[in-house]
Amino acid sequence: MTQSFEAPVIEQSRLALLYQISREISSRLDIDELLPRLLQLSQSLIPGETNSLIVLDEMGRVRHSALLLNGQLHPDPAAKLSEILQRGLSGWVVRNRETVYLPDTMADPRWYRQPDDSMVRAGSIVVVPLVGREQVVGVMSVGRVALAAFQPDDVALTAAVAAQAGIAIENAQLFAAERRGREISNTLREVARTVNATLKLEQVLPLVLEQLARVVAYDSASVLLRKGDRLQVAAVHGFEDAHAAMQLSFDAHSGLSARVLAERRSVVVDDVQRSPEWQASEIPETQAIRAWIGAPLIVKDQVMGLLAVDSHQASAYSAEDSQVVAAFAEQAAVALLNARLFADSERRSYGLRALAATAQAINGTFDLNEVLRLVVYHAQEWFGMEGASLALVQGNQLVFKEAVGPVADRLRDVSIELGAGVAGWVAQHNEPIIVPDARADERFFSGLDEQTGFVTRALACVPIRIQNRAIGVIEVVNPASGEFDPDTLRLLDSLASLAGTAIVQAQRVAELQAAENRYVGLFEDSLDPIVVTNLAGVITDANRRACEFFGLTRPELLGMRVNTLHQVGTNSLDTGRYAPLLSGEPISYQTYITARDGKAVPVEVHAKLIERGGEKFIHWIQHDLSDRVSLEELRNDMMSMIVHDLRSPLGNILSALDMLRKTLPADDEMLNSLLSIAGRAAARLSRLVDSLLDLRRLETGEVMLNRMAVNPAALLTEAVEQVQPTADAKAIQLHMAIPVNAALVLLDSDLIRRVMINLLDNAVKYTPRAGSITVGLKSGRAQLTVSVRDNGPGIPEGEQQRIFDKFTRVHRDAAPEGLGLGLAFCKLAVEAHGGRIWVDSGRKPGATFSFTLPMQAREEKSAARPMRPAR
Ligand code: ADP
Repeated sequence: MTQSFEAPVIEQSRLALLYQISREISSRLDIDELLPRLLQLSQSLIPGETNSLIVLDEMGRVRHSALLLNGQLHPDPAAKLSEILQRGLSGWVVRNRETVYLPDTMADPRWYRQPDDSMVRAGSIVVVPLVGREQVVGVMSVGRVALAAFQPDDVALTAAVAAQAGIAIENAQLFAAERRGREISNTLREVARTVNATLKLEQVLPLVLEQLARVVAYDSASVLLRKGDRLQVAAVHGFEDAHAAMQLSFDAHSGLSARVLAERRSVVVDDVQRSPEWQASEIPETQAIRAWIGAPLIVKDQVMGLLAVDSHQASAYSAEDSQVVAAFAEQAAVALLNARLFADSERRSYGLRALAATAQAINGTFDLNEVLRLVVYHAQEWFGMEGASLALVQGNQLVFKEAVGPVADRLRDVSIELGAGVAGWVAQHNEPIIVPDARADERFFSGLDEQTGFVTRALACVPIRIQNRAIGVIEVVNPASGEFDPDTLRLLDSLASLAGTAIVQAQRVAELQAAENRYVGLFEDSLDPIVVTNLAGVITDANRRACEFFGLTRPELLGMRVNTLHQVGTNSLDTGRYAPLLSGEPISYQTYITARDGKAVPVEVHAKLIERGGEKFIHWIQHDLSDRVSLEELRNDMMSMIVHDLRSPLGNILSALDMLRKTLPADDEMLNSLLSIAGRAAARLSRLVDSLLDLRRLETGEVMLNRMAVNPAALLTEAVEQVQPTADAKAIQLHMAIPVNAALVLLDSDLIRRVMINLLDNAVKYTPRAGSITVGLKSGRAQLTVSVRDNGPGIPEGEQQRIFDKFTRVHRDAAPEGLGLGLAFCKLAVEAHGGRIWVDSGRKPGATFSFTLPMQAREEKSAARPMRPAR
């Protein structure tokens, strides 16, 4: 029952005490000290058996409290007083801001009868609101066991103390708020520093929680991060069994945490045990949690998880606490962002290091199998995969060449159709892919898993390309982290391009090796002696046969110059007949080699430029011509013998025919005609025999040149006169371009006249009727040039050299008769003089035969060497 009082008369001594109380409490700023002291002091002024003080928080709940029972301070009054505040008279007083005196508590319905007996039962009580400058900050009560135990002055004094206390409490609270604000901002600053200095989440998140404990009282706190559909505990502080707490995870779509994620703001719960949203865990500690704050971790607008603080005391947290927790959650989010950025760049640089290591390893080998093994090994090791494999395209199959991991042995050498399975798909489409869930992808072939019991969860596969064509694939399965990070494909792609280059290189090396082996085989087993020299002509290699042939050991041969072996008289490989070699043109020539026994052995040399190991060499094959040459000589000797033996019977026939002609009557036409046929045939035969003998003599060098100073113009005119009748018979025009006064030349006039006649004869023979022939002579300082031009059929290019060989004729229809000896004779005779003979044909119609003779006779060998095998 509410009562009002008249202003009571208060004793002077009690007023003095009130004054003292007021002085003392106004000097105390720490609320935890202030409340018990206040109760104790007021006990001396207004004694009671059950006195209490409650300070409220902004939500009207017990923030601080003190309880004095029979003069003893209660150690933990909050729970009890909180109940009284909720259900009893104190709550009423606070709400109504009115002082109440109950002379008989039991008689008032506002009185809450506590079920437990540990409290001292008040018979009468004074309850006073504590009012600060504006609002109610708490409530004070003084209770006595006796009924109606208070005098009006007691009530007045209680109100007076309460008035003082209200102000003192508000002051202390303001001071505390100020101090707490400073503390919070200092701690946050420290947290920010830590967050920015540490990049490892596993270090930084516990630190954030630890610092939070300095400003928000909690029993346990945790950071939960979102992983797919779950919220996984990532850091804890305050749990007795931290390890067990770290294993916890919760559904990210339901419960209180889900609400924090969905609402993107802090949620404060006074008692989670009474909340239907609370997700209980198996850990007993979490069953003690009552008050709870959850604050979201927002990174770049994305909710990554939450920071939760737990108190074993219900209603422990205020809105302000929630703000502080939110501020710490923001710091944790920054840490998360930093760590993520760091992890990204770490991963990137890790990837680059992985590639560099792989490149280094595979560049060190040219063995294809080793390359494949290294690529697969690195793909598994560096990318943290359970298995890796490499397959190459062979025809329309994809063959697994190399694999590592649990089923490697079963996979190796397996071949699949292009297009089958993920690997086959990649090889066919030439496109990299990540398959995050193998079972859900219809391209995935599960046969191997079924056979082996292996479980393929996620896989990635990239094509190995050469010039944009897929020649194979690299496949990796089951990343250790459970999922492929976004860089995997890019890195695998780079790995594949490394692999492609290395594979091609290894294949090329293998081919080269095979070619080299083939070459070495051919080289060693060749029946011809072969030497290899560098471009300076120094021998760098020689085969077995060469050692036998030259009669030198390999070490003796190496280092020698090739032109000391061949009698060619050229010192340097870039001059003379060697010159075309260096520009890549093969050359062939015949020469002599001085064999071990000092004998000159005829050889035909074929030389050409080769490349071995990126270096250029010259490869010389010496083909031994001894057998061919001796056969040739044998044939020549036989011919000489026959020809020689034909000569005297032919002479007899000719002179007998001559005598016959003289004795036969001139009018017997029939006989005369038979006689002249026989005469012409015998004369042709005789010319043939002469030609053969001349040739033979020129070849063997038996002809001694009978040189005299001759006017070449006169000699040529003589020759022209000889063929004039035949030319006239064919109405051929003979033009002469001959200077009148040509310088005299030392020459064998008989031989050179026959050369001239031969060329003119041929010209007349091959020029059609009414054609024309031009004969020219040029006399220079060093040499004399004679040429015979006709407008006949000419000489095909391929034959222009050959026609100067014995018995060689150009094959054509209806060709005039001949033996193919004339030009061979001309060549030998001109060369015996130190001159040169050749034919030009093709540019203009017809052929121009020319020869030169030196003006000064040099000491020439009279003829070519006897070795001149027929081609
Ligand atoms: P032959 O006795 O066959 O004429 P040669 O040695 O004089 O023998 O000539 C060889 C071959 O060269 C001839 O068979 C002929 O095919 C060709 N030849 C020579 N001179 C001429 C020419 N002026 N025009 C065309 N072909 C020629």
